[in-house]
Amino acid sequence: MTHQHRTRAQREEAFHRACCYHEAAHAVFALKAVGGSVCYVEVNRDWDNPYAGNCRVEVFFGGGYADHWRNALFCMVGRLAEVRVGWRALQTWDEFIDELALENDPETLEIYKCLEAMASDQLSETGDPEDEYDAATADADQALDEMWPEITAVADALMERGYLDGGEVERMVAAAEADGEDA
Ligand SMILES: [Zn+2]
Repeated sequence: MTHQHRTRAQREEAFHRACCYHEAAHAVFALKAVGGSVCYVEVNRDWDNPYAGNCRVEVFFGGGYADHWRNALFCMVGRLAEVRVGWRALQTWDEFIDELALENDPETLEIYKCLEAMASDQLSETGDPEDEYDAATADADQALDEMWPEITAVADALMERGYLDGGEVERMVAAAEADGEDA
């Protein structure tokens, strides 16, 4: 089935699912990879609002290469989760830069700032934001591999309930981790 053949209801459902996975990926990454805490995650069913989701976390990022790298990954896992559930395609660097030029997505700007900071750091291998983009994309995708059961658990609950507080997210992540260890 192609996008064109989907009904509006099916498109809305796919969009809602993608938003839930997007926000769940931010939340689980903040908990598991950055040692942050989640205040809440919510996704509203609002077709006309491109920012229907919200993930409030408390995370501290410093100013070194590793901090910018973690911040870039924290931002990137949301859109990469949307790629995994089939809502959008992986962005090439050129497409990313085109989106940046539109200046309508704060997350795109935040990712770009991180990539620039990484590229200008002495730890950067080539000093080129495009190379940092490719490397960070691969790293973020690998993080999703490792956290997918936890992200799925949080996204499923979000699809049903629309809002989860930080304690609920933490318990779900712990339960999904325990399941993974039993398997
Ligand atoms: Zn996001």
